Amino acid sequence: MDIKIALAGNPNCGKTTLFNELTGSSQYVGNWPGVTVEKKEGRLKGHDNVIIQDLPGIYSLSPYTLEETVTRKYLINEKPDVILNIIDGTNLERNLYLTTQLIEVGLPVVIAINMMDLVNKNGDTINLQKLSAEIGAPVYPISALEGKGCLDVAEAAVKVAENHQVFKAPELPHVFRGSVEHALAHIEESISDKVDKNTLRWFAIKLFERDEQVLEDLKLPAGLTAHLEEHIKDCEAEMDDDAESIITNQRYEYIGSIIDACITKNRPKHALTMSDKIDQVVTNRFLGLPIFFAIMTLMYYISITTVGGWMTDWTNDVFFGEIVTDAANGMLESIAAPEWLSGLVVDGIIGGVGTVLGFVPQILLIFFFMSLLEDSGYMARVAFIMDRIFRQFGLSGKSFIPVLIGMGCGVPAIMAARTIEEERDRRMTILLATFIPCGAKAEIIGMITAVFFPNSVFMAPGMYFMGLAIIVLAGIALKKTYWFAGEPAPFVMELPAYHMPSIKGVLIHMWERARGFIIKAGMIIFPICVLLWFMQTYNFSFEMVEEMEESMLGVVGNSISWIFAPIGLGDWKATVASIAAFLAKEDAVGVLAMLAGAAEDAEEAQVMESLSKLMPPMAAFSYMILNLFDPPCLVAMATTYREMGSRKWGLFAIVFQAILGYSLAFVFYNLGSWYIGDVPFGLMQGIALFLVAVALYFIFRPAKPYVKPQESAHA
Ligand code: GDP
Ligand code: MG
Repeated sequence: MDIKIALAGNPNCGKTTLFNELTGSSQYVGNWPGVTVEKKEGRLKGHDNVIIQDLPGIYSLSPYTLEETVTRKYLINEKPDVILNIIDGTNLERNLYLTTQLIEVGLPVVIAINMMDLVNKNGDTINLQKLSAEIGAPVYPISALEGKGCLDVAEAAVKVAENHQVFKAPELPHVFRGSVEHALAHIEESISDKVDKNTLRWFAIKLFERDEQVLEDLKLPAGLTAHLEEHIKDCEAEMDDDAESIITNQRYEYIGSIIDACITKNRPKHALTMSDKIDQVVTNRFLGLPIFFAIMTLMYYISITTVGGWMTDWTNDVFFGEIVTDAANGMLESIAAPEWLSGLVVDGIIGGVGTVLGFVPQILLIFFFMSLLEDSGYMARVAFIMDRIFRQFGLSGKSFIPVLIGMGCGVPAIMAARTIEEERDRRMTILLATFIPCGAKAEIIGMITAVFFPNSVFMAPGMYFMGLAIIVLAGIALKKTYWFAGEPAPFVMELPAYHMPSIKGVLIHMWERARGFIIKAGMIIFPICVLLWFMQTYNFSFEMVEEMEESMLGVVGNSISWIFAPIGLGDWKATVASIAAFLAKEDAVGVLAMLAGAAEDAEEAQVMESLSKLMPPMAAFSYMILNLFDPPCLVAMATTYREMGSRKWGLFAIVFQAILGYSLAFVFYNLGSWYIGDVPFGLMQGIALFLVAVALYFIFRPAKPYVKPQESAHA
């Protein structure tokens, strides 16, 4: 028989870190709430019969959020053999609130006090024996990050689970007092034949709180419900408060008494920790945003313009340009390869895939810095700062978490939107989250900047901030429409204490993000480059062509280039690249390089040089804008389509993004060309101004007062 251990705890208490430590897997560890929504399973290292489940992070077992509902349904209905409750040792008070509820569920509980490294560093002491005696569950100190004590507590949990069949559950701690206990006792008595003995307390408390889900599940006879209601009303009258608040207050009083008895703090009760002091500056109402912008600018500057740029130059010019190309040429000569094969290898594969991989150092650097910021706890602050700003426009900070994740890849970002309760907000977030440059888009930014705007410091970070701006502006405009109106969802998040990120952790995170990127380069970009190489080398009669323009690709590109002409991409090569980028954004770079015949004159290592001849800078800028804001790659589109939940919404998302991307490119290209004096003011510029006016109207028009839609009967 398998033993099931469920990991339960607050968001950011270290569940996923512990889960990875125990199972040897690498689940995503994120410093914000709601990264785990579905439960994840793994087997305990060295114990094949023990299954560990990573549950979503929750603060309570009330029925108010998706995470809470998922967790409590699982605990009550599927009854794991033991709950391993992880507690953030630096924040016992808040964490114990959940613990008191978990114990009431009636399953055996083992407690792991995590972050002991931080507790020790702060100089605080926790009396574990006393705590264990008070709560009535075994307590173990661990540090999931350092991997200390993890196996011990897991093995203790296994023992408890094995013994549970023999021993009965221990006595519950005395959380409630006076008339509350009296009422609870009455309720327990009335339902004792309806629920399992172990879960009696849980159901009694939930009935006392008038928890609708429990009322519905138990289907008590009307007479009984009325009888219970009398007891509850009596208690409410006596305590002069509503039932739910009475329970909450007594829980906190109980926790307060435990804290006083079991914890000695190194510093006076209300003194500020180092973390608090940093937060006073970093999340400051006025400084928060400028600091965030400064950090992001620096990150992009280092990753794309300077260090990352040098590294990419080297991989492109020396590694792929000389070493790999020479090796390939040597090999091709030695086997006397036919012309088509050398063309395929040198132009198609090295020119296309090689260029994409050439940008990997930049991407790795961005991912490295992001992991650093996330692991230190800073990204959680960013979500907090953004919530404050978003809220003023009727948007929720919850929407910003997918955006942060989207800086790695849009696919997990779209999935992360699942943590947003409100369906309208969730859809809107899916629609907008991919506008933040992901790794592949960062590559486009890197290439266009390096080739066309090598002296611009602000081009790369500017694109990043433009992504943010479009998300906010489009969000404001959408919120004012009938389909997305509504109050922003509340956003509660505890800020974890800052800590020194571990090198191991940061490198693992960086790799998690980069892996998908590199695999994609192989799985999607490789075949596309081969296909496009074939299409640019042969014509429709399958004869090799002299001039690329006569090839299949040239003919197809020329026949649809009118679509892209208004945004400066009327050249068939640019058209083809724009289409290819639809499949995977990395192609935006790889295909351009291939079309420019990058590897042909790779002797000179002039990848960049030949690219820069492909189109004027203004068109390149337009190309970049188009690719940043049109629908994301195929995989992300498929995810969007699925997560939107209906064909109508799926199509809407893609059409919306297509129109937005094209319009932005149109406006920037036409107004830009006029501004720099390339063209006089004409029809195109007029249309561009009109589009700007339309956008401004949608952003600034007054919002209609929101009328909550009528709840449908079966909802
Ligand atoms: P979850 O939300 O409960 O799954 O928490 P995570 O596992 O995602 O961890 C949240 C943050 O706490 C991450 O940045 C971890 O690196 C950090 N963390 C987890 N365990 C420890 C620990 O024992 N000590 C310290 N200092 N940090 C930890
Ligand atoms: Mg987690």
